[in-house]
Amino acid sequence: MRRTQKMVFVLLLCLFEIEAEAQKSGLFDSFDCRKHEEFIDPDLLLLAEILALDPIIIPDLPPEEIFPPDTLEDWQSWSYVQNYTFGKDRGGMAMITDLRALHPFFRDRVAELLKICKEKGIELAIVETYRTPAKQFEYKSMGRRYTSSGAGRSKHQYGLAIDVVPIVDSIAVWDNPTLWRKVGVVGEKLGLRWGGRWRKPYDPGHFEWTGGLSTTHLVQGVLPVVPAGELLYPCLDEDLTLLRKYWAEWENSQSSLTRK
Ligand SMILES: [Zn+2]
Repeated sequence: MRRTQKMVFVLLLCLFEIEAEAQKSGLFDSFDCRKHEEFIDPDLLLLAEILALDPIIIPDLPPEEIFPPDTLEDWQSWSYVQNYTFGKDRGGMAMITDLRALHPFFRDRVAELLKICKEKGIELAIVETYRTPAKQFEYKSMGRRYTSSGAGRSKHQYGLAIDVVPIVDSIAVWDNPTLWRKVGVVGEKLGLRWGGRWRKPYDPGHFEWTGGLSTTHLVQGVLPVVPAGELLYPCLDEDLTLLRKYWAEWENSQSSLTRK
C-alpha cells in the first residue's frame, strides 16, 4: 500500500513538472511575425502596460540574424520625389515619401490622418516622411526658413515626423490658413504634434509623434513605446531593427537615387 502511495506521489510530481514546463515554454516562445496566425496573449497585454511605463532601448542585433535575405532590400522600392514636386525649393536631394519608412505606430496614425482628411474633402499629398541626416544637413545649410534642426536633430530622422500639403485642383496649396487649421485639428485629435502651433518656424505641414520623448532621448537611441491600450505591435522591435537598416541604406545611396 505504501509503495502504491509513493508511486502516485511521484507520478503527480511528474505531472506538475510537465505542466510547469509547458507554461514556461508557452510564455517565452518567440513569436514568428511571418506566420499568419492570430495570437493574443493576456500576458502580452500586461507586458505592454508595464513596458509603456518606461521607454525601451532597442537592442542592436544585425538584421541578417532576424530576417531572411529576401526581405532585406525593401527600401529600394520606397517612393520618393524630386525637388519642386510640390512647387517649392526643397534642395537637390530626393525626398522619401513612403509611409513604410515611418515608425509603425506613427505610420498608422498618419494613414488615419490622410483618410479622415479625405473624408472631409481635403486631399493631402505626402511631401516627406523619413529624412536622412544628409538631407537634414542640406535643409540646414539652406537657412533657418527651412529648419532650425541640424542633422540627427529632427524627428524626421527617426521616422517620427511627416510633412504634408493640401492639394486643390492638382496644385499644392501652402498658404491657406483655414485649410491648414482643419488639417491640424484632425492630426491633434489623433495625438500628433502639429507644426502649425510653432512659430520658429511655423510649419503647418509638419506632424510628429514621440510618445513624450525628447530629441535628446532619440539621439541616444531610445525609441518611443506604443501607448498601452492601443493596437499591439508584437513585432515592433524587429520592424524597427529592419527600418534602421533601411534608413542607413538610404543614407548610403541617396546621392545616386537623387540623380535618377
Ligand atoms: Zn517636418
